[in-house]
Amino acid sequence: MSLDNVRIVLVNTSHTGNIGSVARAMKTMGLSKLYLVDPVNQIDSHASALAAGATDVLGNAVEVATLQEAISDCSLVIGTSARSRTLSWPMVEPRECGEKLVSAAADEQVALVFGRENSGLTNEELQLCNYHVCIPANPEYSSLNLAMAVQTLTYEVRMAHLNNQQLVAEEKDVEYPTSEQMELFYEHLEKTFSETGFVLKQHPGQVMTKLRRLFNRARPEEQELNILRGMLTSIDKSIKK
Ligand code: SAH
Repeated sequence: MSLDNVRIVLVNTSHTGNIGSVARAMKTMGLSKLYLVDPVNQIDSHASALAAGATDVLGNAVEVATLQEAISDCSLVIGTSARSRTLSWPMVEPRECGEKLVSAAADEQVALVFGRENSGLTNEELQLCNYHVCIPANPEYSSLNLAMAVQTLTYEVRMAHLNNQQLVAEEKDVEYPTSEQMELFYEHLEKTFSETGFVLKQHPGQVMTKLRRLFNRARPEEQELNILRGMLTSIDKSIKK
């Protein structure tokens, strides 16, 4: 599953309780790959207590010495910051952040990087990232608790993932007409309504264009188009009578 390619990286975390809460936040959103860069304290009972049912995520956490090591095999790295412009760097909104991570994670490793409780990420660390993301919180108090920032951004990752799955499922179930079938429908529509007098053969005007725009926007399914054709045929028949 593509979410397996999304890792959460915590840099230099002080409070083990936060690490536990991050594990829980991740698991609720379907993520399991946790990297700890040089944590100040080792995972302890406080971490496990706050991880609750997500102690497996804690147990599988990978500890590394530097951020470079944590992201070396990643092709997309997004860094987080409590302020919108720590340094001038490409920024993404949380929603776009989720979408970018999920689409890249289809076949590559990706990382979302979080900073220290008291001082965030350093400029050097932020410069290792492709993009920065900031949760647009209250400008007068924009710094979320570490685990809550993880929860908010991983929620967006999950939403993007669910949207993708839904799109794939919809594409499987539903058949859409080809452009040729749509053209045949428009011909039929124009012919029938020319006969009723609704469309003037000599002056079709904007009506046909507007009807095309309406039906193209609605993007009828093949079955729905069959119903529309059936409706036209029933009008044709009653005209002939
Ligand atoms: N005083 C620090 C705040 C660090 S908060 C600073 O100003 O940078 C700890 C971590 O939580 C941050 O490094 C970031 O990873 C995350 N975080 C907190 N608030 C956030 C926000 N509004 N948007 C994105 N990440 C946030």
